[in-house]
Amino acid sequence: MSEKNNNIFHTEIGDGVYQLSSKTDGLSLEPGKPNRNSYLIIGESTALLFDLALEEFYLCTYAHKFANKDMNIALSHAHIDHIYNIENVTKIMMHPDDAPLLMKGTIFQPPLKKLPEFTYLNDGDVIDLGNRKIDVIHIPGHTDGSILLFDRKTGFLFSGDTVTRRLLYGMHSFVPIEAFCYKLEDLKKLNITNIYSAHDRCALPFEHIDYMISLLKRFSKSEGRILDFPFFEKAEFFSDGNENEISYFDFTVVKR
Ligand SMILES: [Zn+2]
Repeated sequence: MSEKNNNIFHTEIGDGVYQLSSKTDGLSLEPGKPNRNSYLIIGESTALLFDLALEEFYLCTYAHKFANKDMNIALSHAHIDHIYNIENVTKIMMHPDDAPLLMKGTIFQPPLKKLPEFTYLNDGDVIDLGNRKIDVIHIPGHTDGSILLFDRKTGFLFSGDTVTRRLLYGMHSFVPIEAFCYKLEDLKKLNITNIYSAHDRCALPFEHIDYMISLLKRFSKSEGRILDFPFFEKAEFFSDGNENEISYFDFTVVKR
């Protein structure tokens, strides 16, 4: 991990919305291999940093300085690659169903030694950043408490690890695929312009939701490739398309 103070770069992706990325993953904004990104949304009164997805310890300082106003931090979910340096943070916003991951840990993730103060975000909550309203949408599946944020101002959906080009599924409570797809279907009611996930820098189009749904339905009726998967018995892997193009999707379901 680089401790240099110039390893983070940001990309303005919309009015008051920035994608924060690490140079360790390269500089490309094109679809390709997975990388790690956090998002900074700036309102008139406060700013919101979505995910601690960069290893760089100065991510919060970088975002806070850049926003130049009060800043809250929210998590799409509590997996280890979304909570870097969380022990240096005093307050966090997240869905209550992922709090046990931080408090008790799980087979692949130790509990935190020092817990932040939690503000729970539930489905239907609205975060007001001052002339900028952000809707909270809870979609369990990747984790029990995975949330997505919808910025009404730009129409951007910040989708964490839920609406993605790569979906890892079934590591926690198993949500039936039909129920998960039903929730995805519901997202289409929103006026979405672009979708930004945590592990891709490219924007995914609105149509990606239907693409994901159709593939998940197709995959769940077929047999995937069996992989060894750390901490679990095995995983089943499905994919469609080319990873270097937007229209790529893969689905990994762990077996217990
Ligand atoms: Zn995750």
